[in-house]
Amino acid sequence: MHKRMQYALLFLITAALVLGVLPQALAAQETLTLDRPQRYALNPYFEILEDPSGQLEISDVISPAYAGQFAAHSKQTAPNFSYTRSAIWLKAAVQNLDPQNHWILYMHYPLLGQVDLYIDERGHGIFHQQSGTAFPFSTRDVGHRNIAFHIPPSFEAGDVYIRVQSPYAVITGASIMDLESFALFAQKEYMLLGFYYGMVVLVCLAILCLYLLTKTKDYLYYLVYTLSVGLFLWVYNGLAFQYWWPDHPWWARQCLVLFITLASAAAVLLTYKILPIKKHAPVFSELVKALWIAAACITPLTLVLDFTFAMRLGIVIVLVSAVTGLYAAVLCWRKQYRPARYLLISWLGLGLGVFLTSGRSLGWLPDSFMTMHGVQIGFTAQIILVTIGLAGRMNLLRRQKELAQEKNRKLSLERQKLRHVQMLNKMSEEISFDQDFSSVVEKMLVYIRQQIPYDYGCFLVKKGDRFLPFVHVDQDGQPSIESRDKTPFAEPVFTQALTQQEPMVFHHIHQISPFAYYPHRYGTRSAMVVPMHHSENHAGMMVLERKSKKFSHLEVSMAESFAGQTSTHIENIQLFQEVRILTIKDELTGLYNRRYLYTQGQQEFLKAQRYQTPLSVVIFDIDNFKAVNDRYGHAAGDSVLKALGRQCLAQLRSMDIPSRYGGEEFVLILPQTTMADAQKAAERLRIAIASDTISANRHDHITVTVSFGVASLKKDKDFETLLGRADAALLEAKRAGKNQTVTSRPS
Ligand code: GH3
Ligand code: MG
Ligand code: MG
Repeated sequence: MHKRMQYALLFLITAALVLGVLPQALAAQETLTLDRPQRYALNPYFEILEDPSGQLEISDVISPAYAGQFAAHSKQTAPNFSYTRSAIWLKAAVQNLDPQNHWILYMHYPLLGQVDLYIDERGHGIFHQQSGTAFPFSTRDVGHRNIAFHIPPSFEAGDVYIRVQSPYAVITGASIMDLESFALFAQKEYMLLGFYYGMVVLVCLAILCLYLLTKTKDYLYYLVYTLSVGLFLWVYNGLAFQYWWPDHPWWARQCLVLFITLASAAAVLLTYKILPIKKHAPVFSELVKALWIAAACITPLTLVLDFTFAMRLGIVIVLVSAVTGLYAAVLCWRKQYRPARYLLISWLGLGLGVFLTSGRSLGWLPDSFMTMHGVQIGFTAQIILVTIGLAGRMNLLRRQKELAQEKNRKLSLERQKLRHVQMLNKMSEEISFDQDFSSVVEKMLVYIRQQIPYDYGCFLVKKGDRFLPFVHVDQDGQPSIESRDKTPFAEPVFTQALTQQEPMVFHHIHQISPFAYYPHRYGTRSAMVVPMHHSENHAGMMVLERKSKKFSHLEVSMAESFAGQTSTHIENIQLFQEVRILTIKDELTGLYNRRYLYTQGQQEFLKAQRYQTPLSVVIFDIDNFKAVNDRYGHAAGDSVLKALGRQCLAQLRSMDIPSRYGGEEFVLILPQTTMADAQKAAERLRIAIASDTISANRHDHITVTVSFGVASLKKDKDFETLLGRADAALLEAKRAGKNQTVTSRPS
């Protein structure tokens, strides 16, 4: 707020106070004359007698002995006796020159315990009426929130006596009005009060909504505060008694203090909660805490304490609370806490209102508009300003919350990355001992699932221009090597991912044709395709699919690093396998070498022995190969050897083990093969070789024949013995004229 505006506000408040509060001097008048229908203030005509004993009766008061003891009031303002146990007698001389009108005597202050009206019509007897908040509302002569009496129509002139005895502050302003003026006045007044309380109810509803929406407890405290101040005013204005508990004068009296102490407790609690006083003034903050707890504890006690005492206590609590709230607000405002500004002004407003009203009740300040309605005006200002203050604080909190959320988000991202790295390391460790390609891929898929939850994961291998599912992990999390779909996919998406060497992510894939084969069966909505390995022989990709959420950027990059790690490992496996192949294969023919023949032969021999399965060994040697070499050259001879290797691979079963034994001699290990079958196989191969024409060079085609020796496992003691028998059979075949198969008979 600008300085100038602050000054203007201060000036306006001061002016209003000066105009409203200053007592207006008035010439004392003897008799109030009612001569036309309007409102007549009784205050200036009052003469006052205080009866500390409370024992005097009307007969005493009208007697000449007491007449002289009345003192003139002579002021426009209401006679104010504050809290007193005395009975107060007011006397005014009234003359009615307009008997056509019906007159009402109306007390300005709604809370007066017992009011007796006596009209001494000078010789025509004494008229008496009784009313007040000490009696049920139904006994009232005039059904108004304030105490009012009908003046008898016959009244012409006389002395009006009003006796007031009340546990509340005794403030005895009064007026006489004709019935019509009174009705119009009451109408206007009730309309304004209705408007006022309507606003309070709306504000309460708004705060309740804010509480239900935000679940911020501060709003609840504020609601308690607003409700209790609203209720206090509702009781203070006499409306609660009129409408809510007309038959319970005791409660109507006690609840007044209950509501102000409750309001104070809530206000101090609110101050304690929403202002950062704990931070700026820890000791003071403890005092504030003690104050709200004390106020909260005193609240129920007000129902059992003596009313006058409770009322004074209540006023003290309200004043202390207001000062505390003001101080807290000033403190925090000076510490640059912006929302405190509104609170400060609001506390100032209410504090001033409370000061004016309690000042009037305590008799320090005269009766005026400002002292009468101070609390109400201050409260209205406060409701508006505290609401703005709370909104400001909400903004501040929201911004802090956003910052905290951002920080948390970053932190959890870091944690996720760390977990990812740890898992990556663990996976690397585990797969580094694994030399099996499919098992490595399977492990990767299982690891990835822990970090990137998916519904279906699959590793596809490139076969020509198609892709074949190789390992896949289904919804139950069990990896399996069978493909879920035997038909390979020829999807451009995969080729594209592979050539770009970058992951591709798809959302709403049921709308994308390449994935048309998935969603019908799996309900997949999001998919990512990560190229994994790109070499001449092995190109593959990982496909992860999810039914619900999209894959995030982080997840895609994590999948990529998993895939990268696995790729490196697969490359190593391949390298290893290539080296291994070099050590077991014969370079020229592509068949196994002699070393592998012996190790493999040994194993097959042991297996056959243990399981009692047949095992045959075939050895063959090219006939007259020296002559081929001599005639066509060594290179042509090599071509023949190569052709023989091809023939072996073509003619044999996959479980057979063909090897080059040395030079132009070959050995075939045929597991689970009987002598008869081995012989058949040898014959088949012999005929195939013999009918094969091999191009030796550009001009010549060679045909060679081969001699076979076959032996089957009988009682041989080891593989070498078995091989030796086959070799012996071969020698026989050579001797017998070559190009034939000879079987070995067990010795
Ligand atoms: P036989 O019918 O009695 O077996 O007569 P052969 O001429 O084939 O006699 P033998 O088996 O003893 O001949 C071995 C010849 O095989 C010697 C060598 O010239 C030839 N040879 C051995 N290894 C290779 C090779 O790696 N390449 C070529 N081109 N020739 C080889
Ligand atoms: Mg030979
Ligand atoms: Mg030979």
